[in-house]
Amino acid sequence: MNKKFLKGAALIGAAAASYSYLPSRMGRLQHELQQEAEEAALTLATPEKVLYLTFDDGPNPSYTSRLLDLLKEYEIKATFFIVGKFAAENPDLVLRMEQEGHTIGLHSMEHKSAMIQTPSYTRWDFAKSLEVMEDLGISVKYYRPPWGHVNWFTLQEIKARGLKKVLWDVMTGDWKESSDEEKMQYRLLKHSVPGSIVCLHDGRGDGKVQNDAPLRMIETLEKTIPIWLEEGYRFETVDKKYM
Ligand SMILES: [Zn+2]
Repeated sequence: MNKKFLKGAALIGAAAASYSYLPSRMGRLQHELQQEAEEAALTLATPEKVLYLTFDDGPNPSYTSRLLDLLKEYEIKATFFIVGKFAAENPDLVLRMEQEGHTIGLHSMEHKSAMIQTPSYTRWDFAKSLEVMEDLGISVKYYRPPWGHVNWFTLQEIKARGLKKVLWDVMTGDWKESSDEEKMQYRLLKHSVPGSIVCLHDGRGDGKVQNDAPLRMIETLEKTIPIWLEEGYRFETVDKKYM
């Protein structure tokens, strides 16, 4: 009886691991290997000082326009991985991103982890969020899974719909209630190298922003962008990285 139970539990564990944990882990490893190869190539060639700023979890009516103002001030083009339901609620912000030359990618419909999604929910998630974007007249080429989690059906949908999965290299904890400008700036400057994809947040996946975290992210960027520019960095959308 006990043995049977253990065997059953082991089988369920293995099934859960192969459904989502392994695909997510493999995706992360693949991204890191690719990045390492690029960095190795860069050390041989003259490193091109390009950073790819990306913003997840918006659009948010309280923060995204302020972020767009900042990017406009420095003529920086960035990539926004937006949540379908927030895009439907804030179409003007999405259209402004498009008009101002930013790249728009998807970050799911409702920001749920692929680890707990059923196959049918996963398919609905892609169909529905792409429909929202189509209604706004925006074609989407890039997809960033919430938390980087995918399951086998996420991978299938990404492939079938001709999307490219985009992860990140630099994360600062900017979404946290306790985020701290000084620490965030330190991490941004320490960890960003030529070719880094920097992941920041102009909203929160569940819509419940706490303690104005995106505002501190924007204020950190206001202070960090001039330093990067002085160091000779320029900024591109992920299109330029993957074209
Ligand atoms: Zn997210």
